[in-house]
Amino acid sequence: MITKVSDSFYSFLPTGCKLCHEGAKMVLFITGLCRNNCFYCPVSDERRNKDVIFINERSVSSKEDILQEAHSMKALGTGITGGEPLLVLQRVLDCIRLLKKNFGMSHHIHMYTAESPDKAQLQDLNNAGLDEIRFHPPQHLWDIFANSEFARSVTWAKELGMVVGIEIPCIHKANCIVPFALEYDIFLNLNELEFSVTNAAALKERGYFLLYDELSSAAGSRDIALDIKKQYPYVQFNFCSSRFKDAVQLRKRLLRTADVIARTFDEITQDGTLFYGVITGDEEEIIRLLIHLNVPKDLYSPAGARVELGWWVLEDIAKSITGRFESYYEECYPTHGKMVVERVPLTIDSMYLR
Ligand code: SF4
Repeated sequence: MITKVSDSFYSFLPTGCKLCHEGAKMVLFITGLCRNNCFYCPVSDERRNKDVIFINERSVSSKEDILQEAHSMKALGTGITGGEPLLVLQRVLDCIRLLKKNFGMSHHIHMYTAESPDKAQLQDLNNAGLDEIRFHPPQHLWDIFANSEFARSVTWAKELGMVVGIEIPCIHKANCIVPFALEYDIFLNLNELEFSVTNAAALKERGYFLLYDELSSAAGSRDIALDIKKQYPYVQFNFCSSRFKDAVQLRKRLLRTADVIARTFDEITQDGTLFYGVITGDEEEIIRLLIHLNVPKDLYSPAGARVELGWWVLEDIAKSITGRFESYYEECYPTHGKMVVERVPLTIDSMYLR
């Protein structure tokens, strides 16, 4: 049976993807180093070919960063990606052990690799607790995959009891790999080809163009997935669209995080962002005024040269602060660093309640 969600469709969802659908999967970018140079590579300049680690959007400098991020989104699993994780195998093993030790064996971990690990590497990954491995071969191997070293790695990974799949962008020649997935009884994840800042020129050079102005989907990618679905109805198959990543996956992860980190006075929006009021100026003076106005302590929080408070509280006390302090509504992501999405100055016209 084929299920459809936000332009995505699938006949089979591996556990790694199921958790992603719930927004419960954390992304561990383990290194930007990679020996390949795929034209469709979406890795940003900040990360590409640099040995850097990120957990979701957050740069990692210690184990605690990883654990904090997992707590902040109530993560039920982790996807290890890069760059090429096998280039920093020991780091991967340490992180798998760290996560399993702190969140239990049920914390599901999957990993991508564009290389063909040998038996010893797979054994190490399996012993550390890796649950699922997704092979991400470069495009020139897709039509000779069965005769490549990847076929060997797939066999060994299966023998070790891991869940095994192939994950590639849905472009020309993706269909060549389907018979292999069927023969070896492994799942196939096709990602909609997406434009990014770093791959846009290479994609345009090859004749790709945007399907919609507001999304990064490349035209034609989804059609290839539809053809594969029609031609191979029995393959364990998932097509993951760009719209799905934005509308479902990211939004759900933001909602989970907002749920954990929201203060009493933060309003959580439908998109998973936080909405509150801000008064800027001398912190002590603002707090004196809030106490004088009998604003309960749990409805505001000092934050440097500003005080954040419930947006409705800000509206209630608007007359007392006008002319003395600057104030505005603010909306931010609940993620580390709390990137601001929008700031609207408080004026009579901007007030939500009056
Ligand atoms: S293997 Fe992955 S990380 Fe490496 S160049 Fe290709 S797409 Fe980028």
